[in-house]
Amino acid sequence: METGYRKDLKSLTLAQLQEEMEALGEKPFRARQLYEWMHVKLAEGYEEMTNIPHKLTERCRERYDYTTLKTVRVQESGLDGTRKYLFQLRDGNLIESVWMRYKHGNSVCISSQVGCRMGCRFCASTLDGLERNLLPSEMLEQIYAITRQTGERVSNVVVMGTGEPMDNFDHLLQFITLLTDENGLHISQRNLTVSTCGIVPRMRQLADRHLQITLALSLHAVTDEKRKALMPVADSYSLEELMEACSYYFGQTGRRITFEYSLVKDVNDTDEDAVQLISLIRGQNCHVNLIPVNPIREREYVQSRRQAVEAFRNKLEKGGINVTVRREMGRDIDGACGQLRRRYSEVTVQPRTLHLLQSP
Ligand code: SAH
Repeated sequence: METGYRKDLKSLTLAQLQEEMEALGEKPFRARQLYEWMHVKLAEGYEEMTNIPHKLTERCRERYDYTTLKTVRVQESGLDGTRKYLFQLRDGNLIESVWMRYKHGNSVCISSQVGCRMGCRFCASTLDGLERNLLPSEMLEQIYAITRQTGERVSNVVVMGTGEPMDNFDHLLQFITLLTDENGLHISQRNLTVSTCGIVPRMRQLADRHLQITLALSLHAVTDEKRKALMPVADSYSLEELMEACSYYFGQTGRRITFEYSLVKDVNDTDEDAVQLISLIRGQNCHVNLIPVNPIREREYVQSRRQAVEAFRNKLEKGGINVTVRREMGRDIDGACGQLRRRYSEVTVQPRTLHLLQSP
């Protein structure tokens, strides 16, 4: 994995690291030691690697980048303990991640890109476009940094933060390999969810890998016309193609698809929408996650009323669809994708109810 001229050590698989050590004339077991320091003991730097000779860490320093994130800010929700982290990358860019505590374990929502170029109308992450892709190590390190700071194991990872993971496909795959590696943090593939706005060829490519991860599709609308109004990616891929790609994913992996559906008042939350949604996905082995849209300042979209959300859910249930309404975690801490990063960048706007745990 190259960053400029230097390789990024934490983005290498164990096999790749072994090749590197071999090329340097080092003993093969050094690769294992380095790998364990990085991916099991979550070392923040070479100085922690007490069983590795100084000469080797010096050679590594010369040759490789060692990715860590600087924690710029942590906000904790007074409502549910959800924490939102703002991290700074080596080049100064900012990304955000969310830590949520559920009964069944801790979950981290990570970003896959700095910004996004997909242009979904209701999303704050895409307002300034795409800055760059994240490296595999920069995706991993969001989980590692949070694990270090909370002192608690992360059991679930969702790639649902800023960015379109399928638009950073190779790094995403490398990230999945590293995260689920039994020699590393060894998070089960089944506990990993990747969310996409629906880049059909990539969904099919992912299916061909036969992984046991969950694929979440951001559907949000039940006709091509409505979807195009919300999501520019719908100009490239029709609902029919999307549904075929979802069936293909299920066929290749046996994993049921999650459809995400953000409810926007009077836009996609009517009875008719529910009826059309049922006929669109009936017969698919799937699950629907309803998300009351999180309004962003830059857009006029309004959250569906509670009664409308309930009515929508009931309708789907009666139609035989497996459905849940996503609990709104961290509403008081800029919960919507990309809001914290934007607010932090705008010096004049002070975030609302901040509970500051750590300052720069
Ligand atoms: N690019 C990927 C993953 C990041 S977005 C994707 O599109 O799936 C994660 C989820 O949050 C998507 O379903 C997205 O549509 C949704 N989302 C983005 N902004 C939102 C908002 N303001 N309110 C509710 N859901 C939002």
